[in-house]
Amino acid sequence: MSDSQVIIIGAGVAGLACARELAQRGQRSIVLERSRGVGGRCATRRIDGQAVDHGAAFFHARSAEFAQALAQMPVEGRIDGWPQRVVETRLACQPEAFGPGQVRFARREGMSAFPKMLAKDLDVRLQHTVTKLESTGDRVRVHTQHGATFEAEFVVAAGSLAQSLRLAEPFAGQFPGAAEQFAKLHDLEVVPSLAVIAGYACNTPDPGFEVWNPLETVMLQAIIHDSAKRLAPAHRVLVLHSRPGFARARMGESAEAWSRDMLWELGDVLGEWAAKPLWTQTHTWRSGRIRAGDQLAMPAVLNAPGGGTLLIIGDAFGSQPGFEGAYLSGVAAGEQLARAPERLRLVGR
Ligand SMILES: Cc1cc2nc3c(=O)[nH]c(=O)nc-3n(C[C@H](O)[C@H](O)[C@H](O)COP(=O)(O)OP(=O)(O)OC[C@H]3O[C@@H](n4cnc5c(N)ncnc54)[C@H](O)[C@@H]3O)c2cc1C
Repeated sequence: MSDSQVIIIGAGVAGLACARELAQRGQRSIVLERSRGVGGRCATRRIDGQAVDHGAAFFHARSAEFAQALAQMPVEGRIDGWPQRVVETRLACQPEAFGPGQVRFARREGMSAFPKMLAKDLDVRLQHTVTKLESTGDRVRVHTQHGATFEAEFVVAAGSLAQSLRLAEPFAGQFPGAAEQFAKLHDLEVVPSLAVIAGYACNTPDPGFEVWNPLETVMLQAIIHDSAKRLAPAHRVLVLHSRPGFARARMGESAEAWSRDMLWELGDVLGEWAAKPLWTQTHTWRSGRIRAGDQLAMPAVLNAPGGGTLLIIGDAFGSQPGFEGAYLSGVAAGEQLARAPERLRLVGR
């Protein structure tokens, strides 16, 4: 059993931004993360030592606050303006990210550089999967898969929307005012995506672009020339993201089946060579992102009748879509928890 005033579930951008904001205001928190690393959908894999971003592919910022947070990463390793060679953007999930004047860049070491920076000096417990929340009167008890429990007056659920709902609904379903909040959350459109990482010999000719959101495809939403971000890459690497409809229809099948079809379409678009990579890896993003414009701009607050408060934050709760919204929702929650937690207790009462 471990005590802290705030327990945060999930070390994605939102959970880490919340913990960091609390730390900057002198408050301790514990972040519980089920994976072996931080970052969630701001994800980088290492394949033969080469970084590959298989979630979001580059950073972009609309607000000065988020641009400032991104600017805290070291200048070394920053690839300003990336992507520059862009073929078509109208079907990108946030087409405005490609517009002139937008802060836009990638990093040599991968997208996870940002969550890693946020996590510095925080108390993050990796491989701690939270399985259940329980009210103990004036506190919330957090149970983890391997038997460790934690208790705090405030618990912040910072998983993807579906992951947080899986914990929150059994815990708070009967709280006063909770039913309306959950109904609103179920109305948000969650957009899934299937990802294929395709590796080719490093002397394969440059395909001539960095990002392409093809209009003429039925399966592929984005083709990312990932190895163009790396210095002296060992492999030429393309990352393919599927269209949401294709992901919904094929997610239940074997990855071998859907990746074969996505590669076939890649060959159709780029030429036969592209359909035959030397190796592939896959990933299913069940909750890839919240449809831009659907997000709620404030956390969900659920007060247990005896005391103890659960907040839900993340990209569904930011004033902007994507990782920027996730970051801003985390900062807003951290600020409110540090400055005026009593206001949270009033919500829904
Ligand atoms: C393919 C793809 C492309 C994208 N492109 C863009 C883009 O171009 N621009 C943009 O702005 N956004 C983009 N996004 C969306 C962006 O990545 C997300 O909106 C953002 O990273 C969400 O951050 P988050 O902290 O809210 O959630 P997450 O990143 O999902 O973090 C949640 C964390 O909680 C952990 N967790 C969940 N449940 C538990 C549990 N029970 N116990 C412990 N830990 C738990 C998870 O392991 C995870 O680490 C893209 C996403 C994908 C998948």
